[in-house]
Amino acid sequence: MATIIDGKAVSAAVRAEVAKEVEELKTKGITPGLAVIIVGDDPASRVYVNNKKKACAEAGIYSEEFALPADTTQEELLALVASLNGRSDINGILCQLPLPKGLSDKDVIEAISPSKDVDAFHAQNVGNIMIGDYHFLPCTPAGVMELLHRAGVEVAGKRCVVIGRSNIVGKPMAMLLLHENGTVTVCHSRTQDLAAVCREADILVAAVGKAKFVTADMVKPGAAVIDVGMNRDENGKLCGDVDYAAVEPIAGYITPVPGGVGPMTIAMLLKNTLMAAKMQNALLMK
Ligand code: NAP
Repeated sequence: MATIIDGKAVSAAVRAEVAKEVEELKTKGITPGLAVIIVGDDPASRVYVNNKKKACAEAGIYSEEFALPADTTQEELLALVASLNGRSDINGILCQLPLPKGLSDKDVIEAISPSKDVDAFHAQNVGNIMIGDYHFLPCTPAGVMELLHRAGVEVAGKRCVVIGRSNIVGKPMAMLLLHENGTVTVCHSRTQDLAAVCREADILVAAVGKAKFVTADMVKPGAAVIDVGMNRDENGKLCGDVDYAAVEPIAGYITPVPGGVGPMTIAMLLKNTLMAAKMQNALLMK
């Protein structure tokens, strides 16, 4: 029987810590501010944006939404980003991705000032993560690290396997585990004998995007299994990448879906926004 890592509880703890620090900042006359840009009317993006705004309000962070129509031009979007880069009351800028067809995710990411890039997607922040000299961390991998820390799972010296190599999850995840002295293997769709590689893992992170992809035969007894996946099963129910029922009796630690990694992403976004406010007000040295 695995110890179940409760992402909801850890997220609530992080958010409470952020709220406390925000309150302290306010006594110095500083209110962290986050601009949230949403283009078009994708229902999933709308849910994410609403959740982010609600979380900001609960933490005492000022948030401002910029909802643009789907036919917004690249020039209009970049002009908005430029104006937000120049606003001192806005410390963090996030643009909900993916953008509608015809708009470039990459160009928008690169237009956001690296000091306000609270998603940590800008090439400069990605580079900082590579060299281990960073403040902002991409929210989902940072959330995974927070879960491991607070569950007391030691990374140093451990065999870590990350399934998935996306820029948003897999690659930065591998970097963060490496920075904490894990011995890291990154797997992908061309990996041969994936099950055997995964079975070596003391810490197995699944970021594939396929329901029940990680099966019991891929898990070493006692391993910490972290499920980043957010999929729909055959009944339309939210589920992860791990076959939870089969893996839970074998694993040492496991994150459920929902209630595992998911709630951490917003918590880390709030943490990054707080950090941005501190950096921009010279309260944190870079
Ligand atoms: P992605 O960009 O589609 O990347 C998926 C990765 O999985 C790719 O590197 C791909 O390999 C690999 N893969 C696919 N099939 C495989 C196979 N048969 N064997 C081994 N590797 C395989 O997805 P993502 O953006 O990283 O997201 C991954 C999952 O995490 C999704 O379910 C997403 O919804 C979820 N997610 C959750 C959160 C959260 O807050 N909890 C945040 C972000 C993402 P190749 O590179 O070779 O194609």
